[in-house]
Amino acid sequence: VAAAREAGVGHAEPTASGRTQPWPNDPYPAGSGVAQRYATLRALLGGQLDPDDVVAVLAESGLRGMGGAGFPTGKKWELVRAAEPGGVKYAICNADESEPGTFKDRQILADQPHLVLEGLLLGMAVVGAEQGWVFIRHEYGPEERVLRAELAALRAAGVVGPDACGSGRRLEVDIFTSPGGYILGEETALIECMEGHRGEPRNKPPFPGTYGLHGRPTLMNSVETFADVPVILTRGAQWWRDQGRGQAVGWKFFAVSGHVQRAGVYCVPMGTTVRELIARAGGVSGGAGVGAVQPGGASSNFIGPDQLDLPLDFAPLAEAGTMLGSGALVVLAEGTDLLTAATNVLRFFRNESCGKCVPCRVGSTKAHELLTGVLAAGSSRLDEAQHARVLQLEEAMRKTSICGLGQVALGPVVSVLGLDKGGASARPQPRPDGAPEQPTR
Ligand code: NAD
Ligand code: SF4
Repeated sequence: VAAAREAGVGHAEPTASGRTQPWPNDPYPAGSGVAQRYATLRALLGGQLDPDDVVAVLAESGLRGMGGAGFPTGKKWELVRAAEPGGVKYAICNADESEPGTFKDRQILADQPHLVLEGLLLGMAVVGAEQGWVFIRHEYGPEERVLRAELAALRAAGVVGPDACGSGRRLEVDIFTSPGGYILGEETALIECMEGHRGEPRNKPPFPGTYGLHGRPTLMNSVETFADVPVILTRGAQWWRDQGRGQAVGWKFFAVSGHVQRAGVYCVPMGTTVRELIARAGGVSGGAGVGAVQPGGASSNFIGPDQLDLPLDFAPLAEAGTMLGSGALVVLAEGTDLLTAATNVLRFFRNESCGKCVPCRVGSTKAHELLTGVLAAGSSRLDEAQHARVLQLEEAMRKTSICGLGQVALGPVVSVLGLDKGGASARPQPRPDGAPEQPTR
């Protein structure tokens, strides 16, 4: 592994994560280097591929943002491309993956830095940005070294630089190491941080696509989203759609953790069911039954054992009152105290709240005090008044917090209260794409 890192992942096997088998989505032959890879970028810069066609193919493919919210990628690229034509623009790959249970971007960075960087460079070329960054979580040191090695190889080959691929266009990419903190993964907090300010989210709109870094239109996608772009452009939109199951499209990386035999990262067709993914991870530890599952990382509502046949896809999970989120399946075995587990999640959000807005700062603290009081008294059930108080705090936080952290912080707790009553997730999650919210219970 050390030798692979030394040599740069584009040239060595195994990859930096120690993996020897190629992932099923990768269109480039295993072990190929810069000369064989980056073919789509060369085609775009060489004029054989039209930027508008790139946007059209992405829209047709149905690719959506894999950072958690699922915004349509083609639409985002089109918006940034259309914003202030000819003006200064930027592109940023958000590699500040920090959602508890979420570690699939780390694997992609280690194994497929060529896809991440090609996607970022394609994005820059399409929207008209000369400068791009990978904003990377500071704990991802080995992955950062892999990226730096790949970037060095790209510079040496003239793919990145003042005359990218001999096109006469300047394309530069740098790495920005996050100073640390979960909230910096929120796109506007990330931008504030890069500008040298305190890392607090901005009110949206305006969205970064029109008003981003230094007030300029900024294309920001997550690691997995950028990595999917060259795959789709190489294989075609229809191929991508065909990889999914049922209505779902494409391949999806999931981090599976909790009470499973083989925690790890799995690349499966979108639309694979929760049950199938748990089986891929070897089933529940010790052969126990499933108690509850968070299908989309710590921000997502828990679902119960009666919902394991749900397809892992945006719409079905949203309809079930939870979400695909950050691609992290957290499994809790039967018999696990769900209120304790959900309170742990809330503690994380309380600790990571940046404190900018009152509902999140005060609400998360109050709810945490209430729940830890219940647990300290040896109970794992709320009385009616406590239950009503938690629902009230959740509603206030969801409706009035500035960013996603405060909006979802109490969702998992409320969802286990719903499971406790034998129901599905009690609280609907905010829906991506402005889809109408379901009524609050
Ligand atoms: P969001 O819905 O505000 O935005 C999603 C993306 O679409 C953003 O890039 C935003 O700029 C863009 N967008 C939305 N509406 C737009 C419009 N009208 N015009 C132009 N662009 C628009 O969601 P968010 O707050 O960025 O993300 C929330 C998600 O992040 C949650 O679902 C959660 O799962 C996920 N999350 C992920 C991690 C992780 O580590 N991967 C950590 C925390 C949260
Ligand atoms: Fe900060 Fe929480 Fe407000 Fe987000 S919701 S801006 S994390 S205080």
